[in-house]
Amino acid sequence: MILSKRISQLQPSPTVALNNKAKELAASGETVFNFAVGEPDFTTHPDIVQVAVDALQAGRTKYGPAGGSPAFKKAVVEKLKRDNNLEFTTDEIVVGVGAKEILFHLFLALLNEGDEVLVPAPYWVSYTAQIIAAGGKPVVIPMGDDHDAARLTPEMLEEYATEKTKAVVLTSPNNPAGYIIKKDELTALGQYMENKDWWIISDEIYEYMSYTAEHHSIAALVPGLKDKYLLVNGMSKGFAMTGWRVGYLAAPKPVSKMVKTLQTQSSTCLPPFVEEAATEAIKRGKSLMGDKIKVLEERKNIAAELINSWEDVSMIPPEGAFYVFIDIRKALEASNDYQATESLKFSSFLLENYHVAMVPGEAFGVPGFLRLSYAVANEKLIEGLNRLRQALDKIK
Ligand code: PMP
Ligand code: GLU
Repeated sequence: MILSKRISQLQPSPTVALNNKAKELAASGETVFNFAVGEPDFTTHPDIVQVAVDALQAGRTKYGPAGGSPAFKKAVVEKLKRDNNLEFTTDEIVVGVGAKEILFHLFLALLNEGDEVLVPAPYWVSYTAQIIAAGGKPVVIPMGDDHDAARLTPEMLEEYATEKTKAVVLTSPNNPAGYIIKKDELTALGQYMENKDWWIISDEIYEYMSYTAEHHSIAALVPGLKDKYLLVNGMSKGFAMTGWRVGYLAAPKPVSKMVKTLQTQSSTCLPPFVEEAATEAIKRGKSLMGDKIKVLEERKNIAAELINSWEDVSMIPPEGAFYVFIDIRKALEASNDYQATESLKFSSFLLENYHVAMVPGEAFGVPGFLRLSYAVANEKLIEGLNRLRQALDKIK
């Protein structure tokens, strides 16, 4: 029998698939250096765990309200004012099973068949798959040759926009490239988009991991964007709560209402004990993580220093999130066995022979790169990078 044509076009998420593969290898007894998945190696703060335990013991194990509990939505409204200088009301907030579900529902809510969404490369793996699943068309804005070309400009948007453009996705701090769109760059993009009839999907899930530049929300810089600004955020990264699956949307009412309707027809709600714990974490804010963000920044510096000392590789300057996007094109090109763009082939070689898992650039629309997630212990980071060096030397 014929299956869905739309869904048949999709591949499993490469970040999730590679993480599973690395975990299988580790389960078979091998020492694996897993830099594949984007998740902090820290555990959730014990105070937050306690809130969930207490709620469970108090019997709060039933369905919660679809779209989010009043306490959760209020905490998000206050957080957006406190951290982002943004004014929202509670009926503009919707909770979801991870930012991933929020994004999926958002694309379903926004897109009609053939509508185009501008997705600047390198991009997080699930945007394009979800846009296709929702009947839309991802229009990838390619990354230029020079590393600064990873930065988006109004000219780049102008070049790829058509009359079918319905939305644009911005991710800052960026996964996989680790760059941050600076205040002046964001303002320029915002001013350009002010007169466009596009939704601006702003994925700010890495906002707390901003090291060399400050994070800004585009609608706080250009208030005229507020009626088309769709903010996506979640607890996974900034609060080390990946497994809890909490994301949220702040959006004008017609959109938030539709996303909530979709939730009533799909996941229904969040487990209430999870939502209670998340509410507490949001209220406590960035300081809940204590020195953890500093630890990540130190690891970034360790990774960047090592990579910078190699002359056949380079990287997009890492400024935020917890990724370094390593350009290995020169090293691959110098090898008889590889083309400059064959990072997928090289990443398999690296995993099989050196037990180092890094996601190849093909997954993010830019072949010839490897994404390193440095949210791992320092010793593992250094040993893993040394192994990468050995693998690059081996193919010379
Ligand atoms: N956006 C980006 C840029 C991400 O890297 C991730 C990774 N998990 C997500 C959204 C989704 O996060 P989650 O579903 O865990 O909230
Ligand atoms: N967002 C993370 C990553 O890019 C987690 C895995 C996923 O959901 O893709 O690795």
